[in-house]
Amino acid sequence: MGYVISPPPVPSLRVVGSDDEFPVRRIYCIGRNYAEHAIEMGHDPTKEPPFFFQKNPDNLLPEGQDFPYPPKTEDVHFEIELVVALKSGGTNIPVENAMDHVFGYAVGLDMTRRDLQGEAKKLGRPWEIGKAFEHSAPCGPIVPAEKTGHLTEGSVTLEVNGQLKQKGDLNQMIWKIPEMISYLSDYFRLAPGDLIMSGTPAGVGAVKRGDTLLGKVEGVGELKVKVA
Ligand code: MN
Repeated sequence: MGYVISPPPVPSLRVVGSDDEFPVRRIYCIGRNYAEHAIEMGHDPTKEPPFFFQKNPDNLLPEGQDFPYPPKTEDVHFEIELVVALKSGGTNIPVENAMDHVFGYAVGLDMTRRDLQGEAKKLGRPWEIGKAFEHSAPCGPIVPAEKTGHLTEGSVTLEVNGQLKQKGDLNQMIWKIPEMISYLSDYFRLAPGDLIMSGTPAGVGAVKRGDTLLGKVEGVGELKVKVA
């Protein structure tokens, strides 16, 4: 048996220190996971249950490629985030075992059509139009957790054209990595190949064509993306 059309390619990311790639199944993203960012978006940062949205695996933009300014928007924002890559999954994963499922970490950007997201929020509509568009998930290579150790602190920064715009620390996450994995697994069956974008610190802002974005997560590495 074949397919009536060619099967789409499997989206994947390079793995540091390996010739093999990490295949991506789903991309979960948490909203408002740093208090200062929640405040800048006009929300109360009190610890409420977390909420998630998804990007499509084929929205990934691997390292070394330019980010094409997307259509139908005039307000595209950067959000620098630590990305967690899972090597296994399941349902109802207890917080205590959650880190056993982590394969490694990457530096990612949750690119957002903020004007379209804002409109969707106002109308009570879903966020895909603002969040899950082509190339909306630039992501660096995955560094295996054996190399990084499990990350609980470390600076997260984003520079635009050499100017510091975002600065936070992984220890400021409202929902910690094991808590996110456990929570998601109560609602979805997590599986090998899933990515979790862990939220962005304060300082998000708009990009324009020609900008160079440089994101860094201490202990993981850097991601440089040019807006084309
Ligand atoms: Mn985000």
